[in-house]
Amino acid sequence: MQLIRLLNACYRHPGFVYEEARLLEAEKLIEIDVRPRRGSRAICSSCGKPAAGYDTLPQRRFEFIPVWGFTVVLLYAMRRVGCRPCGVKVEQVPWAIGKHTLCKAYMLFLAQWARRMSWQETAQAFRTSWEKVFHSVEWVVEWGLTHRELGSISAIGVDEIQYGRGHEYLTLVYQIDAGITRLLWVGKERTIASFQRFFDMLGQPLADRIEFVCSDMWKPYLKLIALNCPNALNILDRFHVVASINKAIDEVRASEARRMEQDGYEPVLKKTRWSVLKRRHNLTGKQRGRLKELLKYNLKTVRAYLLKEDFHRFWEYTSATWAGKFLDQWCTQVMRSQIEPMKKVVGTLRRHRELLLNYFRARKQFSSGVVEGLNNKCKVTMRKAYGFRTFKATEIAIYHVLGKLPEPKLAHRFC
Ligand SMILES: [Zn+2]
Repeated sequence: MQLIRLLNACYRHPGFVYEEARLLEAEKLIEIDVRPRRGSRAICSSCGKPAAGYDTLPQRRFEFIPVWGFTVVLLYAMRRVGCRPCGVKVEQVPWAIGKHTLCKAYMLFLAQWARRMSWQETAQAFRTSWEKVFHSVEWVVEWGLTHRELGSISAIGVDEIQYGRGHEYLTLVYQIDAGITRLLWVGKERTIASFQRFFDMLGQPLADRIEFVCSDMWKPYLKLIALNCPNALNILDRFHVVASINKAIDEVRASEARRMEQDGYEPVLKKTRWSVLKRRHNLTGKQRGRLKELLKYNLKTVRAYLLKEDFHRFWEYTSATWAGKFLDQWCTQVMRSQIEPMKKVVGTLRRHRELLLNYFRARKQFSSGVVEGLNNKCKVTMRKAYGFRTFKATEIAIYHVLGKLPEPKLAHRFC
């Protein structure tokens, strides 16, 4: 039958023969019998070496890539071997692993589609279950993690993202070298212990070679970075600095709006939240109008806003010395403004002055925009995957999309 020829052309295994194919129309099923080639010896699944036959187990079914709406199944009775060093073991077959009921080719096929679509959509498209898609991706990711090369990593970024419904976080570590950006590690929770596990995985020789670490201002992280990467320049993530200033503005605006309302003033601060938070060039026409109107008033919010906008000049410096001078002046100005939340920001910036200036010492090679972009991709992955109920599934999905992991190679590409 032609189907056998087709299989031999795309999925041939020395030592085994596709014997017969049957079409079961009512069940929309194609069954293919597989048998060992005469004279070929079974491989011990424990040591991977050929061994003498022992007995044969009942027939097993291995699902292969479906064609034209037909499920395709390989039928094969596994042999057991009497292996001298390992004892009686089930043989290892080239198309499947362990107790998986899907062929490797089918798992790789599903996993590749699961990167383009959600797991649910993949399951629907190929009339299989979410669990089977999950196990396929799991296998491909685990294979990738064991076979990936960490190589020389010169820059990493660490960040956390919210996970699940509560206040749970994942710690994510990315490689952010100019030539390669990828997810290196996912940690459950945002703790010192979980971040330390990344360095344990990496090993000291590789950690020693890291030159730049991009992070936020969370103290335990900073300590751990200094401890594990003695040769690295720790750079504060620009995104997080901007976010902390924005948080202060938000506070100033909210409390001022409340006070004005209590005192019976005209509510000029209403609907101005985004007008003062966003950069001016990102404003919509309406927001621009509100901002223009707002700037006429002598309000704390306006002064805080002007200070924030002024701070963006900081990132434009090329020399760390001049950037430092600007930072000091800016901080003095804010302290004089008497705006409490902004003064708090100054405290933070002053405490991290050296780390902030490292951004210029690294010649701006690593914009934290990279980390932010990867984080966004992570969030999209997690949102798309409404089937992830466990940390394990989430972890696998993120690695699958962002890890740039190597994949098992097949002689034939099925998709
Ligand atoms: Zn063995």
